[in-house]
Amino acid sequence: MPKAVFLDRDGTIARDVPYCSRPEDFELLPGAAEGIKLLNEHGFKVVVVTNQSGIARGYFTEGMLARIHDKMQKELAKHGAHVDAIYYCPHHPDDNCDCRKPKPKMLFQAAIDLDIELGESYVIGDGEMDVELARQAGCKTGIRVGEPGGTGDWVAVSFRDAVEQILQFEGHS
Ligand SMILES: [Mg+2]
Repeated sequence: MPKAVFLDRDGTIARDVPYCSRPEDFELLPGAAEGIKLLNEHGFKVVVVTNQSGIARGYFTEGMLARIHDKMQKELAKHGAHVDAIYYCPHHPDDNCDCRKPKPKMLFQAAIDLDIELGESYVIGDGEMDVELARQAGCKTGIRVGEPGGTGDWVAVSFRDAVEQILQFEGHS
């Protein structure tokens, strides 16, 4: 069964623009495409999991989000990289849904859809919730990017660094 690396979007692989609603405002962070390409090349499924409560708040529609994600894939493709799937939670925190991170439903769904072995998979994110997500989904580890002294199982100075730690742990480098 394939292993996956689940990626937070905002603040991890993309510039954190609060409630980003326009493709023009969406921007990959330096090193994001290169890191994702490395994961592609080493056989990991790469899956973006992102909370997008801007939909429930009425700031943007699912169609607008789809255009942003089209741009993301196109930018990645320019670097020979791709993500295998994107899952988002459109709900408001007060909706108490079962998909909003750190709840693990998006990862459980991805595991079914892509035949992923969650216990051999990783989460990379810039928030506490991404580390908690890894725990709740039973992933191998949650890696927190940025903020030295954070509480991730592992911490990384950048997304690229997080990818390299995974590859090293897996014996690929
Ligand atoms: Mg984030």
